[in-house]
Amino acid sequence: MPSASLLASSLLRREILDLHAYHVPDSSGCIKLDAMENPYPVPQALCEEIAAAVAHAAINRYPDPNPAVLKESIRGVIGLPPGMEVLLGNGSDELIQLLAMAVNKPGAVLLSVEPSFVMYKMIATFTGMRYVGVPLAADFSLDLPATLASIKREQPALVFLAYPNNPTGNLFSADAVAQIIEASPGLVILDEAYYAFASDSFIPHLARYSNLLVMRTFSKLGMAGLRLGFLAGSTAWLEQLEKLRLPYNVGVLPQLVAGKLLEHHEVLLQQAQQIKLDRAKLLQQLGEITAVQVYPSEANFLLFRVAKATEVFNGLKQRGVLIKNLNGGHPMLIDCLRVTVGTPQENERFIAALTETLTQLA
Ligand code: PMP
Repeated sequence: MPSASLLASSLLRREILDLHAYHVPDSSGCIKLDAMENPYPVPQALCEEIAAAVAHAAINRYPDPNPAVLKESIRGVIGLPPGMEVLLGNGSDELIQLLAMAVNKPGAVLLSVEPSFVMYKMIATFTGMRYVGVPLAADFSLDLPATLASIKREQPALVFLAYPNNPTGNLFSADAVAQIIEASPGLVILDEAYYAFASDSFIPHLARYSNLLVMRTFSKLGMAGLRLGFLAGSTAWLEQLEKLRLPYNVGVLPQLVAGKLLEHHEVLLQQAQQIKLDRAKLLQQLGEITAVQVYPSEANFLLFRVAKATEVFNGLKQRGVLIKNLNGGHPMLIDCLRVTVGTPQENERFIAALTETLTQLA
């Protein structure tokens, strides 16, 4: 009998063997500013309400495959236009995968811009789609002529645009996005993961484009641990995509807890509002450090460039602050680091640790 690793390397597809697993670093003992989580816990009174509901949850039963009440409260909080539906996912990552599986005819292309969210490329790779990444302009705005030319040439079945973009933080021009949607022969997914911190959304324009779906997640709004995302769009699309959704993809507890939290949506929005205020302060503080070039953001994180970025990242880690090192990934992200906006105290600790590290490295 051959060894397991020999068997794996002969059985698995070449592109899977060549993939690097999505790396999640050990954050124990650190201030965690690496993953765009909401730093605020659920308020005590709401915690107790959730605990009481969880105590009576029917976890011996499979979850409701079509949680109408939860979907209705999502429709309410996002102001979904009439005639539109939502499809729930186990986080929005799962929905990217579902979309790729749905359109993956032989030779089908998934197109996105670069640098952007790495899962678009990873999922294209492991579903066997052909991936095309169009470079952004040097200021991280859309290179519209290049993107339109690439769409014309490649005829992508799927286009993903993160609005605002991760890891750059900027919101693309709405006019440029509209031109991309209009020029696309396939489905365009606007990934609004950071909608709670942004000044614009395409949800109100869903009815205008028959090839547009908007994807959102509740991960950045305080529910990263629940794993709940959704696609919003016309019933014509969603009833087809529903066929691919595994019937029990959102568990009993996430359904129940998200439902409770959405009943108190104003609490989450208030936290997002605080994060936006603290983002402005952090932007200003980073802007005052001469060695640092910081980029504007409509998300709950800031991208910045600094010489010796990997050493700066390590210096921060030694001082108990974990952020994201983007240096060595995409060529446009040389010497780039990304910090999630935390609580005011966490942001202060980050700025202090950064100042100390830069002094030490100077
Ligand atoms: N889209 C974008 C642009 C993201 O940055 C992320 C998380 N980093 C996701 C989707 C995935 O979010 P989740 O799977 O937690 O819903």
